[in-house]
Amino acid sequence: MKQQNVVVLGATGSIGASTLDVVTRHPGRFRVLGLSAHRDVDRLVALCATHHPAYVAIADASLTSELQTKLAAAGVAAHVLSGAAGLVELASLPEADAVMAAIVGAAGLQPTLAAARGGKRILLANKESLVMAGPLFMREVHDHGATLLPIDSEHNAVFQCMPSDFARGLSAVGVSRVLLTASGGPFRDFPAEHLDSVTPDQACAHPNWSMGRKISVDSATLMNKGLEVIEARWLFDASPESIEVVVHPQSVIHSLVAYTDGSVLAQLGNPDMRTPIAHAMAWPERIDSGVEPLDLFQVARLDFRPADRQRFPCLRLAYDALAAGGTATAVLNAANEVAVAAFLDGEVRFTAIPHVIEATLEALGTASADDLETVIEWDSEARTYATEWLTGHAGKQHR
Ligand code: NAD
Ligand code: MG
Repeated sequence: MKQQNVVVLGATGSIGASTLDVVTRHPGRFRVLGLSAHRDVDRLVALCATHHPAYVAIADASLTSELQTKLAAAGVAAHVLSGAAGLVELASLPEADAVMAAIVGAAGLQPTLAAARGGKRILLANKESLVMAGPLFMREVHDHGATLLPIDSEHNAVFQCMPSDFARGLSAVGVSRVLLTASGGPFRDFPAEHLDSVTPDQACAHPNWSMGRKISVDSATLMNKGLEVIEARWLFDASPESIEVVVHPQSVIHSLVAYTDGSVLAQLGNPDMRTPIAHAMAWPERIDSGVEPLDLFQVARLDFRPADRQRFPCLRLAYDALAAGGTATAVLNAANEVAVAAFLDGEVRFTAIPHVIEATLEALGTASADDLETVIEWDSEARTYATEWLTGHAGKQHR
């Protein structure tokens, strides 16, 4: 077996940590070629001291010399790359076999696209890439012979339940529906009239999963499920009408695929991201992930209910943006990132998040998103509009 050279983009995050945990369990199979972080120099240096990558990239270029000094002090010899161009270079290194795309948000788009253009095996956690530029991204994957494997637990589950030739088209292979499960987040049963006073820490206290703060807030608003519907649309070439959201509080079934003959296949497991990570890293083989075996007797029961779109307007907004098409999903994503960052900084209420997204979608409308420049331009305009909306008069009532 040839050892795989792995690049981990977003190594200092939650998915980064789970990835390095799986890598460490299989030293003969995987070797860490490169690691990246946004600003956390100390954590990045500590990871380098453990994993000895040949390359390391820091996204915030102003921290380059600090990183070099600290690497030298730790006795680590790694080639240092920096800024957005450094991330792209890291993702397209000729020696790289697999790239874990685990940067959070729109910042992940360009390095993940670079991995596609480099024909890599892409382990895709950064769902925002597909939300912003789904058709464009899938075209690059296809044109450059890259292998795209989903890390998002729902999409990884769907992938596992699909026939291997699903790329022929879902109706051709007898798939009728894709069912994405959602835990419902920390506010599933919270009194709706008190949602405007919840704190960032309450929103980040997810009942079943431990994740970065942005995706935790997305899970609390259900925007995460909205982004996942869009992600599934492009990953599996599934029509929006064929993708359904099922609230399943136990987070044991990670998603399901329904077939025309009435069969429904599901993937189950303990809620631990090392399962989808190990699956995608070893695919088509199976390896140990370190995750506890599922104890069905302890689980005892599985519940299902529809998603409440009144309480969680973000899910409706995501379906609307997907129906509008073109740049609308990039606008949705950008406005959401601005709103979530403002909420995490204590600047606006939790309930302001869908308002700013809806206002931005209405103000900007949509255009066709055929090239990267257009997507980036609309992302940037949406950020400007959402920021102004939040700081302007309309935002006051939401503080
Ligand atoms: P996190 O916040 O824990 O980590 C994010 C990583 O991205 C860090 O290494 C950080 O340094 C880096 N980063 C942040 N901003 C950056 C920027 N501007 N430029 C370059 N690097 C930057 O996030 P996470 O929970 O690990 O999530 C990462 C991605 O995986 C997200 O797209 C998320 O939606 C997806 N995902 C996460 C989970 C999970 O369980 N955590 C599950 C499914 C999907
Ligand atoms: Mg998910």
